[in-house]
Amino acid sequence: MSVLVFADSSERKFKKTAYEVVSYGKKVAEQLGTNVIALTINGGDASELYAYGAEKVIEVKNDLSSFNAKAYASIINQVAKNQSSNTVIIDSSIDGLTVAPLVAVSLEAGYASNVVELPNSTSPFVVKRKAFSNKGFNNTEIISENKVIGVAKNSYGAHENAVSGSTESFDATMPDLGVNSVSIDKATGKVTISDADVVVSAGRGLKGPENWGMVEELADILGAATACSKPVSDLGWRPHSEHVGQTGKPVASNLYIAIGISGAIQHLAGVNASKVKVVINNDPEAPFFKAADYGIVGDAFEVIPQLIEKLKAFKQA
Ligand SMILES: Cc1cc2nc3c(=O)[nH]c(=O)nc-3n(C[C@H](O)[C@H](O)[C@H](O)COP(=O)(O)OP(=O)(O)OC[C@H]3O[C@@H](n4cnc5c(N)ncnc54)[C@H](O)[C@@H]3O)c2cc1C
Repeated sequence: MSVLVFADSSERKFKKTAYEVVSYGKKVAEQLGTNVIALTINGGDASELYAYGAEKVIEVKNDLSSFNAKAYASIINQVAKNQSSNTVIIDSSIDGLTVAPLVAVSLEAGYASNVVELPNSTSPFVVKRKAFSNKGFNNTEIISENKVIGVAKNSYGAHENAVSGSTESFDATMPDLGVNSVSIDKATGKVTISDADVVVSAGRGLKGPENWGMVEELADILGAATACSKPVSDLGWRPHSEHVGQTGKPVASNLYIAIGISGAIQHLAGVNASKVKVVINNDPEAPFFKAADYGIVGDAFEVIPQLIEKLKAFKQA
């Protein structure tokens, strides 16, 4: 029984999570003494996945105009059955969290989302998951024969492990989708929040939309995505696509810079999974400092221009 990994992509390029789940799947396959197969749907260059350990890549090319959870779940189900895979690995992105439960139901599999480490043991099959809005962990035993694992972004990382892989195509039967995507409005930011390594986020402390120039400049220098707190998008200072937190987009970047954001529980719930959090706030009592790895107590209007100057000088050196 092989391990099947779904390597997600966008506009025919693999997402960073694709390399992470393939790396993870390779190790799980080693633990189980089997091989790993990567599945791509309208994906990138399959050979890129060999570099992370995918011995076989199954390419499905369908004329789906956009992501559709029902279609993706059906394709993953068909490939899992065709390849005799009883362990399916999917990322825990917003799309992954929609697709994976559908796959689990169709395979009558136990599903553990937001898994942060390799299985502690494979018999019994126990995985460690994020819980309580990333404030704790939960060890879960998957007791069913078929298993679906959702890997939390940036938890395992992408590890090169080159193999000489092969690629096959698979002709999937499309289910009745029930919906049709009529139009798509994509966020216009240069780097999307969900793919970003670095996120520069700002809150009500910035006083108004006219002050976001320095936030964008800082983000540009760092190759970062821009984000904001909920009130900022509610006030119309920034687009809703930038709202992060419990009711906004989740962030699991390597670096999260929070400027003029108080650190309310609902904000932290969505950004806590970031590896390093830097907080800039003029109130030393701001709750965000308790969750920060690095903190600067100061006025954003003084700190950010200085940070920009220093980073520019550092880049030119
Ligand atoms: C059900 C529910 C869901 C919610 N979901 C979310 C969510 O998903 N995301 C989210 O963000 N919020 C969410 N909220 C709102 C949340 O509770 C907070 O109200 C919100 O996060 C506060 O945003 P803020 O930090 O930008 O603003 P404020 O709380 O007004 O904080 C502004 C901060 O800026 C600092 N500041 C002011 N001037 C400066 C300066 N010159 N330099 C530096 N710092 C300065 C202040 O000290 C303060 O800490 C939710 C609330 C509820 C009830």
